[in-house]
Amino acid sequence: MRRTRISEILKSDAVGTHVTVAGWVRTRRDSKGGFSFIEINDGSALQGLQIVADQDLSNYRSHVLKLQTGCSVTVEGTLVPSPGTGQTVELKADTIQVLGWADPESYPLQKKRHSFEFLRGVAHLRPRTNTFGAVARVRNAAAFAIHRFFQEKGFLYIHTPILTGSDCEGAGEMFRVTTLDPASVPLKNGRADYSQDFFGGPSHLTVSGQLEAEIYALAMGDVYTFGPTFRAENSNTSRHLAEFWMIEPEMAFCDLEGNVALAVEFLKYVFAHVLEHCVEDMAFFNRFIDKSVIQTLENLVKQEFTTLTYTEGVKLLEKANVKFEFPIAWGSDIQSEHERYLCEKVFNGPVVLIDYPKDIKAFYMKMNDDGKTVRAMDVLVPRIGEIIGGSQREDGYDILHSRITQMGFDPNDYWWYLELRKFGSVPHSGFGLGFERLIQFMTGLSNIRDVIPFPRTPGNIAF
Ligand code: ATP
Ligand code: MN
Repeated sequence: MRRTRISEILKSDAVGTHVTVAGWVRTRRDSKGGFSFIEINDGSALQGLQIVADQDLSNYRSHVLKLQTGCSVTVEGTLVPSPGTGQTVELKADTIQVLGWADPESYPLQKKRHSFEFLRGVAHLRPRTNTFGAVARVRNAAAFAIHRFFQEKGFLYIHTPILTGSDCEGAGEMFRVTTLDPASVPLKNGRADYSQDFFGGPSHLTVSGQLEAEIYALAMGDVYTFGPTFRAENSNTSRHLAEFWMIEPEMAFCDLEGNVALAVEFLKYVFAHVLEHCVEDMAFFNRFIDKSVIQTLENLVKQEFTTLTYTEGVKLLEKANVKFEFPIAWGSDIQSEHERYLCEKVFNGPVVLIDYPKDIKAFYMKMNDDGKTVRAMDVLVPRIGEIIGGSQREDGYDILHSRITQMGFDPNDYWWYLELRKFGSVPHSGFGLGFERLIQFMTGLSNIRDVIPFPRTPGNIAF
């Protein structure tokens, strides 16, 4: 069976051509004139194709009149100009073959608007809805744009491990990986003896590919990772998943300023690509999900990003004439309400905050000469606040060693990371971007569970 995708038909001026299409029925309307209109969607585009089925079709009564939402069909016929509104062409059917029925009594996706919460419970069917089809296409376009951006710039795509023996930022919140039988864990001094485990020591799912990406940057120059990461944060928020995808570029011979420039260029590139290639889907989100998404993205493509230091940012926040839920003072973490205030009220656009206090950032960030702040950068955007977090990395052996110790970690656990500072160390920088946060931002969807096909969150591993 050679079929033509509906997206191809909608793109070309195909009137007069004979085609075979295949898809799932969205609606059927029967006209008194003795024919039916069937709208089918094949996932290739938001828009479906209208099929005109005449009563002369041999299976009109036996099959066509029984088609319901969710049935799968192949249709062969000729494309003709459509007199109706909403489409320029329709398919005049010569044959309609039913591939699979869908019982209307039990098919969960009926022709009405379902809540996102309900749809999460039918994740095997939700990609057949407009919203989830559009999310899947935007994700695809964004992922392609990300690879293209880095490839055009000569960055190498590095595959960092998913199973790891190291804990990137020394923070907890990792998933343990083990083949030990929970019913009879071998013990040593009353504690689990992981020397008898699969890897001969504790192992976890990675929270970030950064440290390994640094290894490759310090050999290959410019690299990036784009892979799954895992965090066992038991926070049921609309912005956190237990499994999400992260993009982490890392550049050798690059300071914080170069890092900021890359992050800004990167975001603009991805937004512009998606605006250009997902016109229909973005119009859909703009109409039904958030009436400002297109404008916001278009602005970001054009706007300057204002760079200022954390210290300057905190001064502006202290002067602000609003009551924040979390009070702000130098040294405290900047919350998303503060980030949004800076973007939305002060600068009316995206902001890059740099040089954060060392105590609220990770151990590997490069120390500034003041001994109090580190070369961190967060890219903040209206509506969600932080979208990218990055830094110039500490490249001095002694400083890094003492930072690791100060944070209460064991330098032996980081021996190879430290050695990179001993043998041919160079200034290097990079950042991390959560792919789902990016998709959330671009689509306007309020819950991160709706921008990944199969969300993993506390208490939920279905599908
Ligand atoms: P947050 O404060 O939002 O929890 P974070 O400071 O823990 O984020 P990083 O450790 O810097 O974030 O991770 C880099 C990026 O990964 C973040 O900017 C964000 O886009 C994304 N991210 C972090 N945690 C999650 C999560 N649980 N689910 C989805 N994306 C996440
Ligand atoms: Mn977090």
